[in-house]
Amino acid sequence: MAALLLTGGRVVDPANRLDVTADVLILDGKISAVGKNLSAPKDVERFDARGKIVCPGLIDLHVHLREPGQTPKETLATGTAAAARGGFTSVVCMPNTSPAIDNAGTVALIRERAAQQGIVNVFVAGAISKSIAGEELAPIGGLKRAGVVAITDDGHCVQNNELMRRACEYAKMFNLPVMDHCQDYSLVTDGVMHEGYWSTVLGLRGWPSAGEEVIVARNILLAELTGAKIHCQHLSAAGSVTLLREAKKRGVPISGEACPHHFTLTDAVVAGSEKFWAEDGKQILSIQPSTFNLQSLPEWPKYDTNFKMNPPLRSVRDREAILEGLSDGTIEILCSDHAPHCDYEKEVEFDYAPFGITGLETELALSLMQLVHAKRISLADMIAKFTVNPARLLSLNKGTLSIGADADATVFDPDCEWVFRPEDSASKSKNSPFFGWKLKGRAVAAIVGGKKVWAEKNELAVA
Ligand SMILES: [Zn+2]
Repeated sequence: MAALLLTGGRVVDPANRLDVTADVLILDGKISAVGKNLSAPKDVERFDARGKIVCPGLIDLHVHLREPGQTPKETLATGTAAAARGGFTSVVCMPNTSPAIDNAGTVALIRERAAQQGIVNVFVAGAISKSIAGEELAPIGGLKRAGVVAITDDGHCVQNNELMRRACEYAKMFNLPVMDHCQDYSLVTDGVMHEGYWSTVLGLRGWPSAGEEVIVARNILLAELTGAKIHCQHLSAAGSVTLLREAKKRGVPISGEACPHHFTLTDAVVAGSEKFWAEDGKQILSIQPSTFNLQSLPEWPKYDTNFKMNPPLRSVRDREAILEGLSDGTIEILCSDHAPHCDYEKEVEFDYAPFGITGLETELALSLMQLVHAKRISLADMIAKFTVNPARLLSLNKGTLSIGADADATVFDPDCEWVFRPEDSASKSKNSPFFGWKLKGRAVAAIVGGKKVWAEKNELAVA
């Protein structure tokens, strides 16, 4: 019998309102018992979790694994290895691949490859429209039967409101949430960074906050009209949070997610590290690891393309609004929008670089720093945004340590101080703006279906 005993950790399981020092016994891939001084079979493998947090396996519902067709950027093997290192036991991969995941055959291909090559659970999001072109609906019923957990045209946004309405109606029939990358093309045109003071100073084309807010408002109206669950992806603008808060009060089936880069950085970073640390970065310094001092601040040049993402980094006011939305529960889900790109693609002028950064290996630390260490939300609330909340949205039978549940668990040290270095990353791509940063909080082990797929100081387990 396969058995694993996690001993003496602080077990935090928000779904069961549990926060207690205890052992967790895993038998045959399921949670068998949670309690003090558990007795276990003689040959059981033990994992000393004293001084660490033990929680349900973290779920990231917004990850680009780049298969099929973009394997120079990432593969199911490298992407899931990065997930495990970051403490994630389940990821949802986005369908904007080449070709797009817009039919049952491609869903089946990804699920089969993920089962062979992935070391964490991979759930698939299908496209809303054929080829993510926004013109014709993808076969939503067929996608559901093939096992998708949501539909989205992420990377793109359906501009035609009538098509989006039909997508919502079908999605509701098949009990699938519609996840949306909120971007109005006519307002955003070819903007490359937040439209504001810094875009003017730097001479870059602006991506206005209204370009996101208009679509969030559209989605609220369509969720209300159709009753479909619409989930707004990677919220970046203050106005989006206000809209969402008001709509949720009225009971509209709408939800939102936030990524650590949007609630850590601002558009000032595009002007270089000196400008950032002198102004918008000050607030981060107050909650940095104890070893973080002014002499060792990370440095980067102006126009660094590792700070180019979609939606873009916005103003201090927007960053505060996202943090506020996370702390009052308006935004109930945390995720990375892990978007790997090759060096040669990013090593071009800011205007020409692709949008996106990697994030699976830094999102836990940055969330701990900005939310828990900064005393904005409790540890249990942060864990809920990475576990039970995404599981509920997607109707996944995950995100808890209930007896009999799948034994997916994450062990992490919330106070461990470390520096993120390219050579330690398991991702195939190195487009992170956080290399050289001192971070506080780190995954120690990732357990998937009762199997330790990654543990600190160990080599990655073979799938
Ligand atoms: Zn997106």
